[in-house]
Amino acid sequence: MTYDKINSEKLLEWFSKNKRELPWRKTKNPYHIWISEVMLQQTQVATVIPYYERFLAQFPTIESLANADADALMKAWEGLGYYARARHLRQAAQTIMREHHGELPKTRKELRKLKGFGAYTSASVASIAFGEDCAAVDGNVLRVFARLYAIPDDLRSPAAKSKIEQLAALNLPKGNAGTYNEALMELGATICLPKNPKCSACPLNDECAAFRQEAVSEYPFKSKKPAVPREEIAVGIVLREGKALIALRPPNGLLGNLWEFPGGKRERGERLEDCCKREVEEETGLKVRVGKRIAVVKHAYSHFKITLHAFLCDWIEGEAQPKSSQEARWVSLDELDRYAFPKANKSVIEVLRRMDKAEPTLFGD
Ligand code: SF4
Repeated sequence: MTYDKINSEKLLEWFSKNKRELPWRKTKNPYHIWISEVMLQQTQVATVIPYYERFLAQFPTIESLANADADALMKAWEGLGYYARARHLRQAAQTIMREHHGELPKTRKELRKLKGFGAYTSASVASIAFGEDCAAVDGNVLRVFARLYAIPDDLRSPAAKSKIEQLAALNLPKGNAGTYNEALMELGATICLPKNPKCSACPLNDECAAFRQEAVSEYPFKSKKPAVPREEIAVGIVLREGKALIALRPPNGLLGNLWEFPGGKRERGERLEDCCKREVEEETGLKVRVGKRIAVVKHAYSHFKITLHAFLCDWIEGEAQPKSSQEARWVSLDELDRYAFPKANKSVIEVLRRMDKAEPTLFGD
């Protein structure tokens, strides 16, 4: 099947008049553009802005990122989620210092070799920062093209993705790829929304196949996602002499290099209190008495959900050892702020603060 080109000029004109003023649109610094592109993956613009500004104030150069302390890096990323992004940024920065004299490579092909640079990030940085003529296809762009061309394939299928990549490349105005990519993303983020797209305000509505067919709600076609499993997790707030025990997760994998309260998954048929006791002992070697449950927190990751149950625990015996973590530390309530925690643990810390206000003997003096 052959496809006609859309009028990219209309898109670019609309973008020049309607684009949002965003901090990363005021810079040509490739490092800044790279950081913004990584932060914007899976994360809303409004959330990213303060992180982006703080991150660049803390790590103003590729060299400073390459030399970043792992804890400081995770603290700067705390709350943004998808923490592998932060670890990969630092690894890529180290490679850039070692192999590229501290400067980002300028082509999509070379960028792709760096840690954390997938097809999208390589193309977006190469086009926006260095002007390479390549199309960057993210979730927004997939949706826009699925509607513009009324693509019948399941958007999750490789066939749909490859078709849309070809269409994005077909319509790319030579010499203006960076603006084109940004314009498409902006259209997807502000007009061609997942629900209730604002077609009457769309610069491409007279060329949009889904709109002409009055079938916008039918595109993109997506098959149902398989049900996401839910895990029950029990964690212990182990208190001893006014301090709580926290452990540093292994450097790689889910939530790598973040701190957490010790705990883990409930086994089939196990009571949550027993799970908490077992997990704390397996992870730290400590024997504890499990007390009251102080929080129940629900959280969704990309492939599973958790319900986290936090229990106060009294230390009985043993010295804390990092059996399945990098390190274990006893910290006061105030000191918890210095460490980066996953979101569900942050909610538990908020509960602890409220409890400490109501009952200041919890953490003691
Ligand atoms: Fe999206 Fe509507 Fe524009 Fe088509 S006309 S691209 S569905 S906003």
